[in-house]
Amino acid sequence: MECRLIWMYHDVMDLYGDRGNIQVLKVRGQKRGINMVIDTCGINEHKDLSTYDIIFIGGGADREQGLLYQDLLARKDNIKKAIDQGTFVLLICGGYQFFGKYYIDGDGNQMEGLAFFDYVTKAPSGGKRCIGNIAIEANLDGEIIRVVGFENHGGQTIDVKTPFGKVLKGHGNTFDGEFEGFYNGHVLGTYMHGPLLPKNPQIADLILRKGLSKRYGDIKLDKLDDAIETKARNVMMSRLGVK
Ligand code: GLN
Repeated sequence: MECRLIWMYHDVMDLYGDRGNIQVLKVRGQKRGINMVIDTCGINEHKDLSTYDIIFIGGGADREQGLLYQDLLARKDNIKKAIDQGTFVLLICGGYQFFGKYYIDGDGNQMEGLAFFDYVTKAPSGGKRCIGNIAIEANLDGEIIRVVGFENHGGQTIDVKTPFGKVLKGHGNTFDGEFEGFYNGHVLGTYMHGPLLPKNPQIADLILRKGLSKRYGDIKLDKLDDAIETKARNVMMSRLGVK
């Protein structure tokens, strides 16, 4: 079995260890004997995104987002084709913001988004940001799981119809907000950065399964020993005072 993953804007969108998410998918796939093909796509590089099983975009500062959003917009039809054909999309922070209608940074500059979804994001002037560790209760296709991560964003995302989860501790989509991220079964957008998959292996496996289902249908992944990952997650949960 093969899983083809493409990391878009790898050279500009890689905040807080976002590349760790790719590493986790790669290793967890390889441990199951899956041939993990990891590719990258930079600005102006020609790639047919619909030929991949998983698309990943990480987070970036406003400056980096400004460099790439027009390139991303030019790929709208290709990304739509990929999603329609069953490619799973994982988006962190700045990447997540761009799948909504727009992002307005703290200086008032507006960057148009792909508008696949109705949400919009605006950062306040004055530089106030949502920073810190975060815990949420996520609903993944009916399965309720607790997720821990780290967020650092100025953007406040509103009008999210199907959030990734309910905030237990931290901010989420807005300052001291009730909900975090976006999830619709095919696209997962979140403000949680690089520790997302290392600390939450259940999500990594969900993404692997969804990506593989594009070509292989419903498959069961062998269980892995997640004792260390579970410990790491529990340490952070108790530090955050979440049971
Ligand atoms: N620049 C965006 C914001 O501040 C995204 C930041 C990020 O990706 N961490 O909201």
